Amino acid sequence: MTPELTHDAARPVNDRYTPSPCGELDEIAEVLAEGRLSGGAPVLPRYEQALADWFGVKRAVAVNSGSSALHATLVALGVRAGDQVLVPATAPLPTAMPILTCGATPVIVDTAPGSLAMDPDAVAARLTPRVRAAISLPLWGYPADDTPAAAILAAAGVPVIEDACQAHGTRSRGRYAGTNHRAGCFSTHDRKLLSTGEGGFVLTDDDNLADRIDHYTHLGHLTGRTHGVNYKLAGPLAAIGLRRLPGLHGQLRTRRANAHQLLAALPVGGHLTELGHGDAQDEPNYYNLVLTTSAAHLAPRLSEAFARAGLAPDSTRYGYRPLYHQQIFAPYATACPHAEHLAATTFQLPVHPDMSPTTLGWVADRVRVLAEGQLP
Ligand SMILES: *Cc1c(COP(=O)(O)O)cnc(C)c1O
Repeated sequence: MTPELTHDAARPVNDRYTPSPCGELDEIAEVLAEGRLSGGAPVLPRYEQALADWFGVKRAVAVNSGSSALHATLVALGVRAGDQVLVPATAPLPTAMPILTCGATPVIVDTAPGSLAMDPDAVAARLTPRVRAAISLPLWGYPADDTPAAAILAAAGVPVIEDACQAHGTRSRGRYAGTNHRAGCFSTHDRKLLSTGEGGFVLTDDDNLADRIDHYTHLGHLTGRTHGVNYKLAGPLAAIGLRRLPGLHGQLRTRRANAHQLLAALPVGGHLTELGHGDAQDEPNYYNLVLTTSAAHLAPRLSEAFARAGLAPDSTRYGYRPLYHQQIFAPYATACPHAEHLAATTFQLPVHPDMSPTTLGWVADRVRVLAEGQLP
């Protein structure tokens, strides 16, 4: 019997994950009892210490979004109007918008073939004295090993920051993504692995940088000596993060087990394989499971088949393309054939803990059928 290829509306595959209650209300009650709900609430240092401990870094600074985390980090690194910031062409809008917020110019660089890491040759070719920072991007929670590009940038004195907004718990070169370079920026928006509704944080081992980010995001602590913005995270949101953080380990285990179940369904020699992610020191957090095809000519039909099964890839669902396809980034367009290829030949699948065994089995079956080339 040929399995049904069209999505069964009675069993929709929900790509949204809602963590089950873990005492957030108790923590919020404590914040209410302490009588301070602002970003100056006593829960903030508790949350920041818990984040630093979880990721094994010296400092964490909580802020009100991942976008704020990126913007504040760029500012703290000295990025000003007229400066340039390197960003991989695979970047989605929220990675690159903070560069414009600084009044700086994005310099879009291609990725290495089949990888999310910046192509070191492209980095070398586009390096100018105006480049003040570079952003490494472990997109979809897949490691982006930017070691070769970082070596070139280090020689030029250019700091690398990580946009780890989708990469809580991703392992890259044996460390957590977001702890491999000068600073790591995270989001805790509802769609991310650690959610506080809206929110974010920056991780760094550099005390001086952490202090500058803290100052900038807290209105310069109202000393009147330095300019700042109000990017503070409100107390009740920090309370939610504090309670949810310990559950991240379990969530990662479940996402990895779910991903491996889908990967086990892929036939050897079929049309679909997992996006490459280095050696055993590298492990995605499975924000999404990302499959790719080496049969590029089949990619449009695979995309359509996934979409018909209710599993639309990002290219269909969000119009995901290299950054310069977005109108506001078109002026910075440059030839990025590897990023073009990656965007057109990858398929993102949900593997979050809310997926029931039945749903997972159903998705595994779709994946197997499409990998075998049974395309409609
Ligand atoms: C979510 C996200 C951001 C922005 O985070 P917000 O908290 O929504 O501001 C930035 N970069 C990436 C890759 C993201 O996924």
